[in-house]
Amino acid sequence: MTSHVLHRRLSGPPIPRAVSASGLIITDSDGREVIDASGGAAVSCLGHGHPRVVDAICRQAGKLAYAHNSFFTSEPAEELADLLVGHAPGNLATACFVAGGSEAMETALKLVRQYHLETGQPDRVHFIARRQSYHGNSLGALALSGNVARRAAYAPMLPRNFSHVSPADPVHGRLAGEDDAAMVARLAAELEAEFERVGPGRVAAFCAETVVGATAGALAAPAGYFAAIRRVCDRHGALLVLDEVMCGMGRTGTTHAWEQEAVTPDVQIVAKGLGGGYQPIGAVLAGARVAQAIANGSGSLMHGFTYMGHPLACAAALAVQRVIAEDRLLDNVGAMGSLLMRTLSDRFGGHPRVADIRGRGLLVAVELGIDGPGGVPFAPAAKVADRIKARAMELGLACYPGAGTIDGVNGDHVLLAPPYIAQADDIARIVERLGEAVDSVCREVV
Ligand code: PLP
Repeated sequence: MTSHVLHRRLSGPPIPRAVSASGLIITDSDGREVIDASGGAAVSCLGHGHPRVVDAICRQAGKLAYAHNSFFTSEPAEELADLLVGHAPGNLATACFVAGGSEAMETALKLVRQYHLETGQPDRVHFIARRQSYHGNSLGALALSGNVARRAAYAPMLPRNFSHVSPADPVHGRLAGEDDAAMVARLAAELEAEFERVGPGRVAAFCAETVVGATAGALAAPAGYFAAIRRVCDRHGALLVLDEVMCGMGRTGTTHAWEQEAVTPDVQIVAKGLGGGYQPIGAVLAGARVAQAIANGSGSLMHGFTYMGHPLACAAALAVQRVIAEDRLLDNVGAMGSLLMRTLSDRFGGHPRVADIRGRGLLVAVELGIDGPGGVPFAPAAKVADRIKARAMELGLACYPGAGTIDGVNGDHVLLAPPYIAQADDIARIVERLGEAVDSVCREVV
């Protein structure tokens, strides 16, 4: 079948055409069933076709599908904001709804800028992020991202007031003999030095994924890292922005991944697990300090998109979040996350081509390497993760591939992010099919 859809292949073999989905299963136009083991890119947190969410969307579509946000707010937008910041941990005070993660990061960058303007700090125009990061595909978010592969083609077009420091990568980025405390002290000192290099009163914010998603594969920072960088930001009067587009909204077992890090961000962005894929939606959540500065200053956000606060998207996200709370699904994320780690360790422990198995909650990665743990990565040209994705699809499993993009150190990985409704038999089937795909590809490449 010829495809006229530009976002995917216009040449080469066609990809399957998804026609329906229910729970963890997506069915294509040939009637083949695929287990959606990564929710696309960690999007589908409730699985597919959840009746309560479908019902909420239909009801909202019949009532009010759209009203421009400069004229009206809407019931679902108000209720979703109350749910996200009204009863939330931390000091969250305001929510801005956009259409996805990149829009959320663009909005966050502008919100941070506005905060500094409103508080009389117009020279704070520089953002610091980490080399091992992905914050979105629009040009501002891409400039912030450290992901070399995704930046390369656009590098000459990217704004320059962004710089990058070392990732907090306890798997590949430790110096010999370094424990967590020493590593954290080194990274905090590096960040401090970067603030000084950029100049006093110049840095607007430090931005990081709380648990790094696609770029590094479910990689959490060493204990104490976020508390240490929070102190550096505070010392220099800069804001801390956490990107929880992939790791947030319950994916790691708590609503926000930062709850496990003993810090509170000034601004955070969420997206994928917010609407679970039922509608395109992302959000910027800001703390009281930022919200108050704007309330006391100009009074409104200097920024806008046509589909901000979209009622249908907000209704879908509201229903998703209510199901997660009412069905106590975060307990299941914890239980199934532990089971997934155990099952992967049983299947791949001692595997000569598996370098690491890691993750939090239901955000888990299997990293591949030529000589197992501590060995060398596969050559990028071998495209091992992409081949595992393709082989897994043939076996009826959708998992998300990632390739080593940080300083050439870490290698290919495959990300698993099953929905929060996954059960033990789903976990068993996912690991069985992934094992088959990994073995089959590794036999070919070495
Ligand atoms: N930030 C992170 C951590 C992401 O993983 C992504 C997408 O994968 C984005 C931002 C961009 O989100 P979107 O693709 O919805 O624009």
